[in-house]
Amino acid sequence: MSSSDVAVGMGEWALGCSGRFARDESVRHTRGMEAVDRGQLELAQSMLSGAQRVVVLTGAGISTDSGIPDFRGPNGVWTKNPGAEKASNISYYLSDPDVRRAAWQARLDAAAWSASPNRGHLAILDLERSSRLHAVVTQNIDGLHQQAGTDPDLVIEVHGTIWFSRCWECGDRRQMSETLQRVRDGDPDPACELCGGIVKSDTISFGQSLIPEVIDRAMRVSEEADVLIAVGSTLSVYPVANCVPLAKSRGARVVIVNAEPTEMDGIADVVLRGSIGDVLPQLFAQGGNT
Ligand code: NAD
Repeated sequence: MSSSDVAVGMGEWALGCSGRFARDESVRHTRGMEAVDRGQLELAQSMLSGAQRVVVLTGAGISTDSGIPDFRGPNGVWTKNPGAEKASNISYYLSDPDVRRAAWQARLDAAAWSASPNRGHLAILDLERSSRLHAVVTQNIDGLHQQAGTDPDLVIEVHGTIWFSRCWECGDRRQMSETLQRVRDGDPDPACELCGGIVKSDTISFGQSLIPEVIDRAMRVSEEADVLIAVGSTLSVYPVANCVPLAKSRGARVVIVNAEPTEMDGIADVVLRGSIGDVLPQLFAQGGNT
């Protein structure tokens, strides 16, 4: 079995991340967090200053400051409603029209449509300007790295994107805005206009295989990295979490930036515990960006 056959422990976007928490201040749970450890920050900066190929691996935590809730953080969608995780499985979506209707309704006002990139996304641009950003491997489906201005060719979206819809049967891919307009116009579960098949967002749901070329590219850039920085992820979703031990095994330094412990802290060279919006601008400024 190739890595891309492994089920992704990620929910279908609209089921897990409806607009319910779109502007909920509580998602900014890192407010008031203690300042990041200066010694560890300087250590990470010194690793970056000598690096030529930096890979940034991002998860849902980088987008919480944009008003999009994560899944497993203290105010995450699954933390607050464990049932949402189960309902996120692709098999429920495909077999139950009620689940699809609920998903489309929730997607109509998902937080991502009005979200803007935050200081974390923008800080990555500083690294990019220094010509050492090798790739951004993102688990996120919100498109905020590209909105921030990161070169789309450098962004590897391993779990797809909500900005497009795709037919499960024939693969017809369209702008999500076009499909959502059909929902607004009164079709609660819009079928494929070409073949009549079930349509969903162009994301990877729980139980769905990844796109082999995409996850393979993510693994390849991780192997090539001098430094891999994992940001805002519990690093519990596979196979993408394997980027971290893979990079490490090929000699890369591993830096983790997250508010809470992650599954990979034990193999990291530096763990920066803090708010992403505070830590990343410091990490990529001056010493980390020479
Ligand atoms: P996760 O929900 O499992 O973990 C997010 C981590 O980020 C948590 O440990 C949390 O404490 C931390 N965090 C949240 N906000 C933070 C902040 N401002 N500063 C510092 N740390 C912060 O996320 P995951 O590991 O990415 O796995 C969830 C899956 O669902 C992934 O595939 C993910 O991309 C997807 N998802 C995507 C979005 C999105 O596109 N924005 C939103 C929800 C879930």
